[in-house]
Amino acid sequence: MMSTTTVLVINCGSSSLKFSVLPLEGETPLLSGLAERLGLDNAAITFKDEAGKTTQLLAQPTHHCALQTLFAVLAEKALLSSLCAIGHRVAHGGSEFQRSVLLTPAVIDQIRQLAPLAPLHNPANLIGIDTALALLPALPQVAVFDTAFHQTLPPEAFTYAIPLEYRERYKIRRYGFHGTSHRFVAAEAVRLLDLDPQDHGLVIAHLGNGSSLCAVRNGQSVDTTMGMTPLEGLVMGTRCGDVDFGAMAYLATCSGQSVEALSEMANNRSGLLGLSGLSSDCRTLQEARAKGDARATLAIDVMVHRLARHLGGQFAALHRLDALIYTGGIGENSALVRELTLARLEIFGFRLDRNRNQAITGGAAGTISADDSPTVMVIPTNEEKMIAQDAARLATAPER
Ligand code: ADP
Repeated sequence: MMSTTTVLVINCGSSSLKFSVLPLEGETPLLSGLAERLGLDNAAITFKDEAGKTTQLLAQPTHHCALQTLFAVLAEKALLSSLCAIGHRVAHGGSEFQRSVLLTPAVIDQIRQLAPLAPLHNPANLIGIDTALALLPALPQVAVFDTAFHQTLPPEAFTYAIPLEYRERYKIRRYGFHGTSHRFVAAEAVRLLDLDPQDHGLVIAHLGNGSSLCAVRNGQSVDTTMGMTPLEGLVMGTRCGDVDFGAMAYLATCSGQSVEALSEMANNRSGLLGLSGLSSDCRTLQEARAKGDARATLAIDVMVHRLARHLGGQFAALHRLDALIYTGGIGENSALVRELTLARLEIFGFRLDRNRNQAITGGAAGTISADDSPTVMVIPTNEEKMIAQDAARLATAPER
């Protein structure tokens, strides 16, 4: 049954545009899809309806045409008039945005000024925002930032130990990412575990292609593993996470590579991909590991070692620990990664229940710890739902 009130969620990249029409009541998107290869001749836009049926249309290769096509399809399906708002995912809100905001010319200008902090992402996000505002100027539109949830980090957690003047002059500090996911999962944990909203402690492990941890104290982010960019912290699909800057400086000297080339290597050719030489995909590596592939085995071991080490660090930011939560594609599905990590955390009293762990995959929520262990849960993330909720709330009560 069609809802009378829906939100369109847009996640715009430089050559792609993900979209989803979400009912305010209910879970299943009424329509979702992806426009890809924008900028190339073979651009295409794929739609998936409520029943899961997909259709593909060839698109003109611009973001403007992709959104025009999307809005035409929404009108045809009588969904355009049901929209109460559009929610845009925006990568970097710097120190300027502590929460989601209605898009105004001043806000758009601020997001544009933050582009140097996220040169690949913010300009692409702005293309989606500018185009959607041009096509549907009367509809309230909202920006939801990946960084906003972490604006509660204390200075000792967000400051790098380099000369302090760089923090003011160049805005070099830790910002953190995946904030929308961490905020959603933290709220779900409080609800599912019936915790006191004013007195709880959680550590959330968002493990996907990009991965980060977040320590949540009484609803607020107090530490996280990503930094000024999403490169810091855990071993990810193609990103190296933490690495000794001295090692990179030495590599630059030895190999003659530029800073740009090393940055490209650290972001796109490292992590699980660089270690295994096989794939950035955890599933593929688990299969190779089961067949005895030495590099796939090492890749998973390095990822798990780093994960356990950083989890220990995040616990130290809390006054109490109510639960450790796994989420994201790996966190929600990989019983192996969860088992290997918890085996390294037995010093903290963690004990896994193997049957519970094996049973939870494919978008299910549930407890995987043994009864005599601190609680460990799997909670599926839903960033789009969080964006839709923020957009709807701000569209109806803009002053809040
Ligand atoms: P993104 O960060 O791009 O949103 P996801 O959260 O979808 O990514 O996570 C993708 C990761 O989840 C990939 O490494 C993929 O292999 C992993 N994954 C998905 N399903 C499984 C599974 N059943 N077992 C192990 N890993 C899985």
